Amino acid sequence: MSPNFPGLGPLDGGKVAVVVGGGPSGASCAIRMQQLAKQLHRDIRIVLFEPKQFEGERHFNQCVGVLSPPIMEILEDGLKISFPWHLVQREIYNYVLHSDRETILLEGEGQPSFAVHRVKFDAYLLKQAERQGIRVVQGRVTDLEFAPHGIMVYSDNENLRADVVVGAFGLDGGGCELFQRATSYQPPQALASIVTRIYPPVDFMKRFDSSIHAFLPGLRRIEFGAITPKKDHLTINIAGAQVTAEDMDAFLRLPAVRSVLPANFLPASLELQYFKGRFPIRPAKHLYGDRYVTLGDASGLLRPFKGKGINSGCLTGIRAAETILKLGISRKAFRSYYRLCDDVTQDMWYGRLIRQLAVSSANIGWLDVVIELARGHPHVRTGLFHCVSGHKSFKAIRQDISLRQTLPSLLFTGGRWLLKLTTQTHH
Ligand SMILES: Cc1cc2nc3c(=O)[nH]c(=O)nc-3n(C[C@H](O)[C@H](O)[C@H](O)COP(=O)(O)OP(=O)(O)OC[C@H]3O[C@@H](n4cnc5c(N)ncnc54)[C@H](O)[C@@H]3O)c2cc1C
Repeated sequence: MSPNFPGLGPLDGGKVAVVVGGGPSGASCAIRMQQLAKQLHRDIRIVLFEPKQFEGERHFNQCVGVLSPPIMEILEDGLKISFPWHLVQREIYNYVLHSDRETILLEGEGQPSFAVHRVKFDAYLLKQAERQGIRVVQGRVTDLEFAPHGIMVYSDNENLRADVVVGAFGLDGGGCELFQRATSYQPPQALASIVTRIYPPVDFMKRFDSSIHAFLPGLRRIEFGAITPKKDHLTINIAGAQVTAEDMDAFLRLPAVRSVLPANFLPASLELQYFKGRFPIRPAKHLYGDRYVTLGDASGLLRPFKGKGINSGCLTGIRAAETILKLGISRKAFRSYYRLCDDVTQDMWYGRLIRQLAVSSANIGWLDVVIELARGHPHVRTGLFHCVSGHKSFKAIRQDISLRQTLPSLLFTGGRWLLKLTTQTHH
């Protein structure tokens, strides 16, 4: 790969890699680069910049903190680090899907998901990186200057020259702007999200089932919502192109949502704190180039409408590290990294379709029909489980649910639903 690109071949001894951001993607990339460098007997220097101090939980992360399969394999096989059992607050086996009128339990199969405190998970990964000899600088990268023979990296702490820069800054406005200024990178399109937490009585939390409650409400501005049980609280989040605090107020008033919360819960009477975050919904433009590559949320390389951003962050980190050490740091080498992510990119089209279908079905009430159909058809129920949990790709789900087998029942159930609706309207 290197002959056409002098200096842009696989990173070898004496070279410097700078990672901008110490979330799951940045930490994973740094850890994997360090391990490969050792294996290949290359003395490279890896410096990771992260302004937040995760240790001591001084920063909030709006992420709900659900680690879903195959996170164990990603950590233990991909990164050769132990799964942090000590951080698990709750094991999640099932999902409960709610439309405005209907509810269905979607039972999981295989490995559960694990609810953790997200900031503690980030602290754990970063500690692993430090243990492996990576230099973690507490500071924010403020500027980058690309020159043919390297990059000058400026931060609010220290400045240094690097051979490659890895953008793992999530959807942080400053990080995006920095890369936009220095390269052709353009951040991914994203959905907004509002998150809050409530702390019900201890007994209520003990009795709460080990399920995530997912909502596809008929409210036009909300694409989906979820209530996730943690150890001593429930995390509630909603997402939509432009959701606001008022949308969260409206969500918390919905009867379907109230049915999951404590009976005496009155949102207005509580001083609820709302946090705002964002989910990427498509890949960034120019997400790699000579001497730079982006990962995780910054790259937008996530399965659409599926969550699992932590897994995607770790996986893109591992794939980028392998590209840098084995193929090189040129645009051409990073094209292979992009191709390695085809599990995500090839599911984009299906993802968008499912997203549109889910939103329109919820808005016109058609989701009730799908839920009713799923009650009588185990394969539709399993398909819904995988759609909601994100455990399988949309393409695989479509292949599992034979449309020819399902269509007659769908039409029959839909017909009955229309009849019921018409009768109700006449009365
Ligand atoms: C409401 C909400 C709930 C979610 N729930 C889940 C969930 O339950 N499970 C799941 O798997 N995913 C979830 N996600 C997605 C998940 O949070 C992200 O996909 C994941 O954090 C991406 O990891 P990352 O390392 O790419 O970015 P981040 O985790 O955002 O990390 C980026 C890091 O870069 C640092 N940084 C930014 N700018 C600079 C700079 N200039 N210099 C140095 N450092 C910088 C930041 O401080 C930050 O620590 C959720 C997202 C949202 C919005």
